[in-house]
Amino acid sequence: MSDAAFCPRCGDPAPEGATGHTRRERALCNDCYFEDFELVDAPERVEVTVCAHCGAVERGNRWEDVGARDYTDVAIESVSEALGVHVEAEDVSWGVDPEQVDETSIRMHCQFSGVVRGEPLVEEFTVPVKIAKQTCQRCGRIAGDYYASVVQVRAVGERTPTSEETERAREIAEEITESMEATGDRNAFVTEVAEKPEGLDLKLSDTKIGKNVARKLTEEFGGGFSSSETLVTEDEDGDEVYRVTFAIRLPEFVSGDVIDIEGDDGGPVLVRSVQGNLKGVRLTTGEAFEATHEVGDAPDARKLGTRDDAAETTLVAVEDANAVQVLDPETYASVTVARPDYLDTDDAEVPVLKSRAGLHVLPS
Ligand SMILES: [Zn+2]
Ligand SMILES: [Zn+2]
Repeated sequence: MSDAAFCPRCGDPAPEGATGHTRRERALCNDCYFEDFELVDAPERVEVTVCAHCGAVERGNRWEDVGARDYTDVAIESVSEALGVHVEAEDVSWGVDPEQVDETSIRMHCQFSGVVRGEPLVEEFTVPVKIAKQTCQRCGRIAGDYYASVVQVRAVGERTPTSEETERAREIAEEITESMEATGDRNAFVTEVAEKPEGLDLKLSDTKIGKNVARKLTEEFGGGFSSSETLVTEDEDGDEVYRVTFAIRLPEFVSGDVIDIEGDDGGPVLVRSVQGNLKGVRLTTGEAFEATHEVGDAPDARKLGTRDDAAETTLVAVEDANAVQVLDPETYASVTVARPDYLDTDDAEVPVLKSRAGLHVLPS
């Protein structure tokens, strides 16, 4: 006869095929086995810490956004996670029924059923849940106007950044923080957007956001940026905290500007792009212009006007392959001007720009 044939606690014959995961359990008869058996291991109480401002839940030493509609959902989830069903149980089914006691107290009524050693078992119990309200790190930082990085959007020379450039800077900052949030980074936010006479200042919660805004904006609009660090404080762990300023310098000229390049007698250039190096079109011939790599987006040039300064005027006559006559939009006198190859001689009216460099036909 084997050891398993008799229960070591009471001496009764043990049932055939009684199983357990220890040698002692395997030997116990059903009566002794169920005497101190618990189908579910439940905690005495559960405390859940939530952020009173954004509803995030504290798990371990980090905060998580749970997208919960209310604290009941959070309580159900926390209780469910804290419960352990005995490994021997089969055909387990369970349900929880929250009873809201007051705003921060919930009684969670739990019902479990399962089959152990062929015996159907039912267990009912109640777990009190306390909701503790705190302020998460993110909300604390937002409330305290925390920022780790400043982006200064400025332009070179006389001009200030265009509304297109400043709007895009704002948009990029939002896009970057949203994508960081989407990957679970809770400390990404835009602290402040401030319009200044000389451009735009963005205060950001993270230096990564500042760096990416500077990089992306100059990729799209040209120009460059520099960064500088300032020691501001020490954090909770005694580490030094630096605030990083990214100073963006957008190029002096933008698409749509008409410029006269120093030491170049090919005539004015309408700027088409300043990404990488300045590119445009000659207003005298219609030929493409491209600044050398060394010059990049900053040629030594003076601005004559912009495309928006152009006026529509009458095309009077075509003189030859290189010249046409148009009416001067101010004096209405007929004048001979250069004929760029983009000019369509079938047009009755053409846009012209009158500047220090004379009268030039623009592309329509
Ligand atoms: Zn027994
Ligand atoms: Zn919060």
